[in-house]
Amino acid sequence: MTAAVTKDVVIVGAGFGGVAQAIELRRHGITDLVILEAGDGIGGTWMWNDYPGCACDVPSHLYSYSFAQRKDWSRLCSPQDEILDYLRGVADDHGITPLVRTGQRVERCDFDEQRGRWTVTTAAGEVYDAGAVVLATGQLDRPAVPAIPGVDGFSGDQFHSARWNHELALDGKDVAVIGTGASAVQFVPEIAQRARTVTVYQRTGNWMMPRKNRAYPRWARALYRAVPGVQAVRRTGLFLYTESLTQAIRHPRTLGRAVGALSALYMRRQLSGDPELAEKIWPDYTFGCKRVLFSSHWIPALRQPHVSIVTDAIGEVDGDAIVTADGTRRRADVLIWGTGFDTSLIPAIPITGRGGVTIAERWAGGPHAYLGMTVPGFPSLFLMYGPNTNTSGGSILVYLEAQAAYIRQAITAARAAGGTIEVRDEVEQAFDAALQDRFAGTAWLECDSWYRNQDGRIVTNWPDSMRRYVAWTRRLDPEEYDLQRSGHGQDQEPATVSE
Ligand code: NAP
Repeated sequence: MTAAVTKDVVIVGAGFGGVAQAIELRRHGITDLVILEAGDGIGGTWMWNDYPGCACDVPSHLYSYSFAQRKDWSRLCSPQDEILDYLRGVADDHGITPLVRTGQRVERCDFDEQRGRWTVTTAAGEVYDAGAVVLATGQLDRPAVPAIPGVDGFSGDQFHSARWNHELALDGKDVAVIGTGASAVQFVPEIAQRARTVTVYQRTGNWMMPRKNRAYPRWARALYRAVPGVQAVRRTGLFLYTESLTQAIRHPRTLGRAVGALSALYMRRQLSGDPELAEKIWPDYTFGCKRVLFSSHWIPALRQPHVSIVTDAIGEVDGDAIVTADGTRRRADVLIWGTGFDTSLIPAIPITGRGGVTIAERWAGGPHAYLGMTVPGFPSLFLMYGPNTNTSGGSILVYLEAQAAYIRQAITAARAAGGTIEVRDEVEQAFDAALQDRFAGTAWLECDSWYRNQDGRIVTNWPDSMRRYVAWTRRLDPEEYDLQRSGHGQDQEPATVSE
């Protein structure tokens, strides 16, 4: 067995979360760290998702680190390659790139109660002995393909949007797309320019908002560059705009109705003269309950003669055809899964805390963590973009930066105590109850979505504004945690620590 490499902190995942955490720790003098990354580079979701048309529908002046603002974004919402370049550039500038071990998929994390340390093991055989572990793998790292009968026997090619097969030319092909979420609305208009036919299988329609996303004119880029403060004002404006979307979701009978009416107006205009398509794609749930999609190209793409939308349920895949429940067979050369991700949040790998309990066991009734980051029974283990920290309106980077700073405070407190830090059970439980109460009366509760688990509990989303999350996480309260000196079993008295 490989000898363990000792590190103060092991970060799992080199996406926006992991990179933010490493920068934050290094800034505060915690430099003995490694980032373990399953893929072959820095990038996280922006490395795995490189489908045609992939972009972030959150404007880049907001979807970027507050401490690494760029003034020369090419357009309002940057394409995937520009975001990836940005993240890799920031990692280089802050000395993070050499800390990343690529090709290291973590296969287990085990807490040693006697030593107060974590053992992190990778599938490639590397073993780390860590004082703290930060899981920065996010909520959207495991592509989901539904178990439709006959799917393995499909005679054509098939792949998921997050594992795009760039070797396969779609020109002249009959392509079936299953799913109409945020990814599909970006790639369908692109592939429709090449494929002979595109048949889109939709289970639920979406509320749409415009996003033309033209390149910034030269004068606008010059303005951002030359006039101090313009870019900061732009970021603040975008922040407030996206906060208002969250408020529309929080208040579906008032602001939500008004914003929903704007969405309906926009959609009606795009659907004008095509009542049949309007009937098929019109959402049948409250505005904002599922993620609102931003695209000016989706409906025009569906209106093309060689693109069709099927709303009958899929019964099976049979040979070269998708067969709907009414028995209709539709042939396809290629099947693309735009079916999203496994968002159960239950880790696929064993993460074993105190008493040999795994996180999956702890979360048998659904995932929950204090502020989405700390879990009782798992000392000095931290989650980034964990349970209930997804946003439907804002920029996830605001949450990730808040988490990086909070986790750094926790790690600092544990180091000062010479051991580990663990959230108190009653603190986490009270927080979870209050958090779930905050969903009352919001649009999120008015339909089924990937935000909910099988029991209907919302497990992915934060029920409130970005501002409120930042305020809640600004300062770690040591009273809410137990600090334990290492080398002393869990039956020892907790250390007293002042931060
Ligand atoms: P998604 O939003 O979860 O959409 C999955 C789609 O597949 C939905 O239309 C869903 O229908 C459908 N589906 C799932 N299982 C199905 C089944 N068994 N049969 C038929 N249809 C099925 O996935 P995604 O589009 O990959 O996006 C996931 C998340 O990634 C987004 O919500 C967003 O947070 C993020 N994302 C962000 C951007 C961005 O620009 N910022 C872009 C892409 C993705 P139902 O609606 O009926 O469940």
